[in-house]
Amino acid sequence: MKQRLAILGSTGSIGVNTLDVVARHADRFEVVALTGATQVDAMLAQCERFCPRIAVMASAPHAQQLAEKIKQKRLLTQVESGASAIESIAGSTDVDAVMAAIVGAAGLAPCLAAARAGKRLLLANKEALVVGGEVFLRAVREGGATLLPIDSEHSAIFQSLPEDAATWGERVDKILLTSSGGPFRTRDLATLRDATPEQACAHPNFAMGRKISVDSATMMNKALEVIEAGYLFGMPPERIEVVIHPQQIIHSMVQFRDASVMAQLGTPDMRVPIAYGLSWPERIESGTPRLDFNTLAAMTFEVPDPQRFPGLQLAWDALRAPPGTCAVLNAANEVAVAAFLERAIRFDQIHAVNLMTLECVQPHAPDGLEALLHLDARARAAAREVVHGLAL
Ligand code: NAD
Ligand code: MG
Repeated sequence: MKQRLAILGSTGSIGVNTLDVVARHADRFEVVALTGATQVDAMLAQCERFCPRIAVMASAPHAQQLAEKIKQKRLLTQVESGASAIESIAGSTDVDAVMAAIVGAAGLAPCLAAARAGKRLLLANKEALVVGGEVFLRAVREGGATLLPIDSEHSAIFQSLPEDAATWGERVDKILLTSSGGPFRTRDLATLRDATPEQACAHPNFAMGRKISVDSATMMNKALEVIEAGYLFGMPPERIEVVIHPQQIIHSMVQFRDASVMAQLGTPDMRVPIAYGLSWPERIESGTPRLDFNTLAAMTFEVPDPQRFPGLQLAWDALRAPPGTCAVLNAANEVAVAAFLERAIRFDQIHAVNLMTLECVQPHAPDGLEALLHLDARARAAAREVVHGLAL
């Protein structure tokens, strides 16, 4: 039986890489549904190639454009629009596995739907877990879903941990998340405030979506990943560390009680964690070039500089703060990054927006999707006010 897949965010960087892996294994996977937001031509090309039963565009006008083109091409794909259509696909009985590759908190509702429906849930959309926290994990438990990390660091940790999750706590000392240090690791600190969106989006090793690229430049991506690791692996914040490793050959590590360290290595290519999520517990070809240890240059490590990356510390602070704080931090950061990309604030002001929003929004312990969305909206409104006050 083929695994029936829904790829949420198929037109994005992770979505495209997922389809690249899937295309290598037509015997294993059937693409049932694809979703995007506004990229009509990219979605049309994916529909022609993968013939999904359903394609959803989050934006209604773009769905209409897609529907017209699908009709002209006489394709059989049914076109739908809107967030609720994406949510219902994520929980549909026609789907076995859901690749969650929407960017930002917009992916939370479909992730929860997939979790409640007991799907195999391939989680790239880290913001959904950062916002959803305990609510998300409860939905996974109660729905009987299988949550598989796609973020490369978390996939590396998952591959390095022993399989019997119940006893991790006793045997693991700490989790070491590696980070490339992003495009500004060595940039003159005095010029960092004036970094442009183009410079921030020029990641040294990966072509990624714009939001995660900016997060990588501020290291807020790593902050979100510390929170993600805390939830995924049930690790207290003091047992999670970050080390900069610019070559991105080691994708993260686990240190055990006896001082032994397990690491997962490979060429930096998202198709590896994607292929592992798709095939776990088996392994399939990912299309990724192999590491060549005969030609491999040196691997180096650095401590993240708190002056250069002030946002990183917010992860540990938020994990120790009252429930809901991580959701506030994520909302503030999404608003700040969008404002930076629109050139409304400077690069260094992203951190200022995050700090000020955390100061002025008191979270309440969210008990479900509605409360989370309400908190997210409240934090976004506050962050927008801060942006407005700072605006260039
Ligand atoms: P991207 O911007 O390239 O793609 C995002 C996708 O989500 C697109 O298909 C877009 O159409 C869709 N989308 C955007 N807003 C939406 C909305 N409001 N409703 C519905 N769909 C919407 O982003 P990406 O780089 O592919 O990242 C996706 C997720 O994966 C992010 O959470 C990111 O942190 C995570 N991730 C990405 C990488 C990477 O290498 N790109 C690595 C690890 C984790
Ligand atoms: Mg990552």
